[in-house]
Amino acid sequence: MRIATLLLIALAGLPVGALADADVPPPAAKSPLLISIAGDVKPEELRATISKLVGFGTRHTLSDTKSNTRGIGAARRWVKSRFEEFSRQCKGCLQIQLPEQTVTGERIPQPSSIVDVLAIQRGTSDPDRVVVISGHIDSRVRDVMDAKSDAPGADDDGSGTATVIEAARVLSKQKFRATLVYAVLSGEEQGLYGGKLLAQFARDHHWSVEAALNNDIVGNTVGTNGVKDTTHVRVFSEGTRSTETPEQATRRRYNGGEVDSPSRNLARFVSGLADAYLAGFNVRMIYRTDRYSRGGDQVPMLAVGFPAIRFTEAIENYTREHEDVRIENGVHYGDLIDAVDFAYLAQVARLNAITMAALAMAPPPPAEVKIEGAVSMDTKVSWSPVADAASYRVWWRDTAEPHWSNNRAVVGGATTLLLKDVNIDDWFFGVSSVSADGYESPVEFPGPAGAFVDPGAAAGK
Ligand SMILES: [Zn+2]
Repeated sequence: MRIATLLLIALAGLPVGALADADVPPPAAKSPLLISIAGDVKPEELRATISKLVGFGTRHTLSDTKSNTRGIGAARRWVKSRFEEFSRQCKGCLQIQLPEQTVTGERIPQPSSIVDVLAIQRGTSDPDRVVVISGHIDSRVRDVMDAKSDAPGADDDGSGTATVIEAARVLSKQKFRATLVYAVLSGEEQGLYGGKLLAQFARDHHWSVEAALNNDIVGNTVGTNGVKDTTHVRVFSEGTRSTETPEQATRRRYNGGEVDSPSRNLARFVSGLADAYLAGFNVRMIYRTDRYSRGGDQVPMLAVGFPAIRFTEAIENYTREHEDVRIENGVHYGDLIDAVDFAYLAQVARLNAITMAALAMAPPPPAEVKIEGAVSMDTKVSWSPVADAASYRVWWRDTAEPHWSNNRAVVGGATTLLLKDVNIDDWFFGVSSVSADGYESPVEFPGPAGAFVDPGAAAGK
C-alpha cells in the first residue's frame, strides 16, 4: 500500500509537468489492515458514547467533580472506565494516565484542578515515536462561567471525545510499531488548559510526537443557514511553524516553505487517505491553524513544536454551539444530541483511526532533508537514513500546486537522488520513508520549515 501513490492516482489528470508520466509508479494494493480498521468503526458506538456524555448534565470544567451522575468528574471517571474495559480486552495493552494540574486564570477565578484522561498503547518496535488523537470533554453554555446549567455538549465536543474513544476501541485490537495516545482533555473552553497539560506531559516524557490529531466539533452536517454537507471534513493546518526562529523565517521567506510545515504535510497525508479509503468522503484542506480567530487544543501542541492539525465538520451550526438549551421563535438552541449525524461522525472517526494506523505502521519521515543544485540543470535531494525504512520516495511539485504530484522511488538503501533536468528553482521537493510492507510516511519538506522533529524543540529549547 502506498498512500501517497494512491493520492497521486486520485490527482491524475492535473497538469503535473512533462516528467510526470515517467515517474508515476504502478497502482499499489490497499492495506487490508486499514480497510478492516475503517470497517470496525460503528455509528452506534459513537451514539452510545455521546448519549452517555450528555447524560452527565454538564461537563463544565468548574462543575461538580464528586457526584457519580452529574458533572465533569463523573464524566472523566466514565471515560477512564471505558479505557480500562478496552485494556482488559487486549490483555493490558493500554496504560491509563491522569495528568493533573491546579490552575487559575481569567476564566478560572479560584484554583481548580484540570485533569486529562490518557490511554497509551505502546508501540512494538518504535515506542518513543507517538501519534496522538484528542478531543475535549468539557462543555459550556453561553456564559462561559456558568458551571451549573445543563450543557449537553453533544457536538462540542462530545463528538471529538467519542471519536477518541472509538479510535481506542478499534485500534487497541491491533499492534502498531509506534505508540498511540488517546487523549480526552479538560479545560478547553476555559483557555486550552488540557491541551497545554498534554503538551507538557509529552515534553516531560520525551515523546517524539509525529502527529497530533485534534477533533473538535466533528458531528454536525447542517449549517446555521440550512446548508447540508455530509461528504467533507475540514482539516486545519498551520502554514509556517509556530516555533520558527527569526533566522529560519528569513531563509524560508526567500526560498519557500510557507505552505509546507510538517502540519501541512500531515494534512496532505490525511487527505490522501480519505481519497484512497473512504468512498464519497473528502478532506477540505484549510490553510489556517484554526477557524478564523478561534482556537483549539492543537495550538498548545504546535507551540512546543509538534506537528498538529484540527478536524472540524464541513459546516457548523452556531445556534447549537455555546448556547443555553431553549427554543426561541421556533429555533432550537443548545448542543443537543439530535443534531449529531452519526453516519457522518463515523466517517470522521474512520479517517482518524486509519490515519493513526497508517502513521504508526510507516517509518518516521526522513530527517535532514536537503536540496542542492543552484545554477545547474539538475537537483540533488538527500536525507538521513531511517532505521525502519526499506525504501524512500522523493516527491516534487510545481511551487503553486496544493498536492505532491511527481515522485520517484529510491531503493537499495541510497539516501540521495539526482533528479536530472529538474531545475531546483522551479519545484518544491520532499521525501517520504516506506516500510518493507509498503506503508509510506508523510512527505517531509527540506530544512527546519518542514522538519517533523523540530530542531529547536529536540534540543530542549
Ligand atoms: Zn470545542
